[in-house]
Amino acid sequence: MLDIKWIRNNQERIQTVADQKGIAISITQLVAWDDQRRVLLQEIELLRQERNQTIQEINLSIYSHDLQHLDQKKQMMKKINHRLAALEKEHKTVHDQYSNLMLVVPNIVSPDTPVGLSDQDNVEVRRVGEPTGFAFEAKDHVKLGELHRMIDIPRGVRTAGSRNYYLTGAGAALHRGVQQLALDLLMAKGFTLLEVPLMVRKEALHNTGFFPLGQEQTYQIDGEDRYLVGTSEVPLVSYYDNEIVDVREPIRLAAVSTCFRNEVGSAGKDVHGLYRVHQFSKVEQVIICEDSLEASEQMLQEITQNAEDLLQLLELPYRVMAVCTGDMSQKTYKQLDIETWMPSRRAYGETHSSSNLLDFQARRSNIRYRDVQGKSRFCHTLNNTAVASPRILIPLLENHQEEDGSIRIPEALRKYMNGMDRLHI
Ligand code: AMP
Repeated sequence: MLDIKWIRNNQERIQTVADQKGIAISITQLVAWDDQRRVLLQEIELLRQERNQTIQEINLSIYSHDLQHLDQKKQMMKKINHRLAALEKEHKTVHDQYSNLMLVVPNIVSPDTPVGLSDQDNVEVRRVGEPTGFAFEAKDHVKLGELHRMIDIPRGVRTAGSRNYYLTGAGAALHRGVQQLALDLLMAKGFTLLEVPLMVRKEALHNTGFFPLGQEQTYQIDGEDRYLVGTSEVPLVSYYDNEIVDVREPIRLAAVSTCFRNEVGSAGKDVHGLYRVHQFSKVEQVIICEDSLEASEQMLQEITQNAEDLLQLLELPYRVMAVCTGDMSQKTYKQLDIETWMPSRRAYGETHSSSNLLDFQARRSNIRYRDVQGKSRFCHTLNNTAVASPRILIPLLENHQEEDGSIRIPEALRKYMNGMDRLHI
């Protein structure tokens, strides 16, 4: 959420960003509601003063037995109360309209964010490694998974419906292995590991900018004010709700969690295999730091590098993309996605998403720190995937397959796989 004073002074800029992000909002309407709410508040304030004055006059009339005056003032009081009730009701309606619109105002975007409509307009920043070439007919991860009895989609669908799966044996071990590798990497870099709630209140989703826009992506527990998280970013950031934190050293948090996503709007998209599923696991990095553009840009580079380090340990070719305005969410100021080479798709597929949100989440969540002058300020928050599985199994199995159907296990993963260097059929 941005500051309304700032919005009023930058109306055109915010409207442009909203249009570029595809968010339907009229900033002129927002400012009109704000004007109206301010005028009503002033009127209410004046009437309250008048009411206090009248109460005093009534008391005086009682004290001096001035019955005629008392009657007049009582009549006046009735009118004031009547008018006040009407104004307060009107104020509530206007204030609700204003607050609802404030919740969909987008964050600004960085000057180096490409302007575009969809992921087709994202811009490649760098490429590491080259797409894997095969001198034989390569198999996709579903076929490899079947051959190795590692991935069972039919049984997943039978038990849980579409976009579900079982991982068995070495598949489940690889899934756990990549997560533990990512966690070990983050902890070695000074991240604190948290075990987090996976069912959260609506307020936490509002505060972190996942609601109201995007609410349809989230599963709600029937009849309760609790929702299944789509990412541990929500409980990680919410950990510091309404607190003053010490960010002399940026706060680095990590969690591994199951993520639940409705994937409405993705009907018919990525239906094959493990790419887009309703339930997956993600190791997430969150950083909370001071509100300096320089500091948070440096943190964005740091969390992006952490993900790149992991991909290099997994010996996978990837590229880093500058995400364009139309492919960004409401809350994002700057986003870098990492796409890893997926041979069966003959394309790079998104495996990581690194974002700087400036103070957007911290304002909603009321997370502050004290600067050197002792003034309280909103923090900047950032997040990135460290690894998301089973999607990462797609490039892992497909890029490391051999002609005989065996799969080479990258050196860094072997200690999580009982020392195995290869999976044989
Ligand atoms: P996000 O939290 O939306 O930025 O996504 C972070 C990463 O989680 C993506 O880059 C994917 O690797 C993974 N991911 C997101 N949605 C899904 C999904 N429906 N199925 C499998 N993996 C997903």
